Amino acid sequence: MDLPKTAESVGISLQRLEGMLDRNIKLSRWPDPRLFRFEKAVSGVEAGTVIFENGEIVYGYPKINRAMMLEPALKRFFPDRVAVEEKMNGYNARVVRIGEEVVALTRGGFICPYSTEVVRERISPQVFQDHPDIVLCGEMVGSHSPYVPKDVYPVDSLEFYLFDVACKAKTDVQGLESTHRLAEEYGIECVPLFGVFDVGKAPEEIRKIVEMLGREGREGVVLKDPRNVVRPIKYTSSESNCTDLRFAFRYYNDYGRDFIFSRVVREGFQAVEWNDSEKEFKERCLRLGESILASMGETIRERMAQDTIVQRVQIKVKRLQTARDLERHLRYMGIRVVFGQPEPLDDGYLVRIEKLAMSTNDKTKSMIEGDLW
Ligand code: ATP
Ligand code: MG
Repeated sequence: MDLPKTAESVGISLQRLEGMLDRNIKLSRWPDPRLFRFEKAVSGVEAGTVIFENGEIVYGYPKINRAMMLEPALKRFFPDRVAVEEKMNGYNARVVRIGEEVVALTRGGFICPYSTEVVRERISPQVFQDHPDIVLCGEMVGSHSPYVPKDVYPVDSLEFYLFDVACKAKTDVQGLESTHRLAEEYGIECVPLFGVFDVGKAPEEIRKIVEMLGREGREGVVLKDPRNVVRPIKYTSSESNCTDLRFAFRYYNDYGRDFIFSRVVREGFQAVEWNDSEKEFKERCLRLGESILASMGETIRERMAQDTIVQRVQIKVKRLQTARDLERHLRYMGIRVVFGQPEPLDDGYLVRIEKLAMSTNDKTKSMIEGDLW
């Protein structure tokens, strides 16, 4: 890897780059092509940024801030109109062509072998022929997801939904209009756009949309500026906050406290802003409480029965090598996994995977045996 060239291309000094190597900037040797990966932001360069060995740069996808109270946030940030797009719940992927190969990068800047196989099949190669520098930013959603399996979308297995477009070596994203136009032109699946609203009417419209999404077990919305000047803001349904909590408490010792705390706080603000009736408020309390206690109860009872707490996910691959590569990739990311025997299907293989929540297993076992917290 050409260090001086790399430093120059992202605008940091060679000395600083060298100082950061193996700390905030890591070299990934596998899978091909080799790349530098910004694990944390460095000198204003977004985390998740990747520099490939041929010198091409793909910047990290910008963080999206969250509204806790919709109406004041909308009034404060959006001058007149706001576009409401679905926030789909899966994992972020940036898809680029490097040399002759299309690869999918995770949020953190790893090449994910499984996502790569899926996008190569789902996205027409023509888009990269016409735009060799394009970066397609999208969400991988569906039930055959090794990271965030969800069966609430009209997806058979796993699908890439485009939500933004960027260009190699550029930090800015092109926004709503270009994204939906490109998706249309190349037949790429795109996140649903619910409409563009006057900011005065928006809070009420958004509430209806978010409540509808919540009833369907879907996550929420991303509010975007049709002119792509104001930065997007996200907002989620109560059901989605609670689904996250259910998950976080099932694996309570493997999850960050911030993850849990922030979801409880969101419920407080939403209950007040939406002025819950007594009945709605009680329902919210029950939903929140159950999502915490029911899933923890499950964990404790299972552990008492000597069972190991695992998360079961499944993937569908075309080639067996993709499953082997995903296994290596997950291990490399520090996730303890057990891959089952591939089960042949008409068009590939189904592979069941168990992800071990080691910390929750150990902690729960020790509590059951009478250890003190
Ligand atoms: P962060 O909050 O730092 O962005 P996170 O992983 O916690 O990171 P989320 O709370 O899931 O992020 O919200 C941001 C992510 O939402 C984006 O990175 C993207 O993967 C996903 N997303 C889903 N639908 C959309 C959409 N329509 N527009 C933009 N992002 C979307
Ligand atoms: Mg997400």
